[in-house]
Amino acid sequence: MDGGAARVAPLAKAGQGRPVLAPTDPGTIAYPTRLKNPTHIRRIVGYCDMPKSPWSVPVTTALHADGVKVADLDTSATPGFRGGKKAGELLLEQRRTVLSELQEKLYANGRSGDPRNILLVLQGMDTAGKGGIVRHVIGSVDPQGVAAAAFGVPTEQERGHHYLWRIRKQLPRGGQIGVFDRSHYEDVLVVRVHNLVPPEVWGKRYDEINRFEGKLAESGTTVVKVAMFVSPDEQCKRLAQRLDRPDKYWKFNPGDIDEREFWPAYQQAYQAVLDQTSTEHAPWYVIPADRKWYSRLAVTELLIDALTRLELDWPKAQFDVEEQRRRLNGC
Ligand code: ADP
Repeated sequence: MDGGAARVAPLAKAGQGRPVLAPTDPGTIAYPTRLKNPTHIRRIVGYCDMPKSPWSVPVTTALHADGVKVADLDTSATPGFRGGKKAGELLLEQRRTVLSELQEKLYANGRSGDPRNILLVLQGMDTAGKGGIVRHVIGSVDPQGVAAAAFGVPTEQERGHHYLWRIRKQLPRGGQIGVFDRSHYEDVLVVRVHNLVPPEVWGKRYDEINRFEGKLAESGTTVVKVAMFVSPDEQCKRLAQRLDRPDKYWKFNPGDIDEREFWPAYQQAYQAVLDQTSTEHAPWYVIPADRKWYSRLAVTELLIDALTRLELDWPKAQFDVEEQRRRLNGC
């Protein structure tokens, strides 16, 4: 193992009968350079018979929403990852570079007219770490290629339109990674929990959202949906920390404490979202988020997986390279 830049699994060509491999497939991922020495790896990761990858299964399998029961979720778990915090943080450091390289290719292709893009949808209760994903995961790529949007309580203008109106306006263009900090799913989450519209209205939205995302997929958007879950205790701890630090007061909203009363209703609403809107073209991934290092690593891997599946290459030159080289002669 060379321990240098991470090697990305070769993708099986469609129709060859082999499953498409994700970069987190065991045996296809390289370790961070600082984890070159296998003994060192085993000591840090604490796993004696460690095979080639710190992931026991691809992250897309480990986190897929199929069969997940929100109420039974262990929010402190680290599904699929063999190591602990230290190994996770070191790996994240390296995988951020891989993500950044893939994003540059996506952006380069977009500049050459490729309509494909990625849309990362982040959902989660207050303090689940959505902002941290935007800063620490998306923050590692070139901001030129990112279209980030946060969706709060709809404005008066937004309320005058269909709930997807404000969403459509923020969709990423070709070559971009779009990031939604909250999304159209609020219209079947907070809206359902607080009866902001009657059930016959929000009840129809699940199918509508599936159709909307189906169209996105057809037009070249890879939708990566991430639902982040913290325990009530962890949320309490994080809210309390905000009150302990004047530099975090701006993040504190007294209404977040009121929302804690509605925890079971939110769990039900999230369960309905996972059950009804996790589709082949836009699956949900469920991230236990009590450990920030894990949720950041997991989302990084999901993005790397989505980008790898696009089988991006550098765009071909639209000019005669030799001719241009000749023209530079003498400088
Ligand atoms: P955050 O809490 O994510 O830091 P904000 O302070 O802007 O961001 O709060 C977002 C709030 O807006 C959340 O309470 C969320 O439930 C609410 N919200 C988002 N979309 C809607 C919607 N469609 N209808 C009602 N409330 C919404």
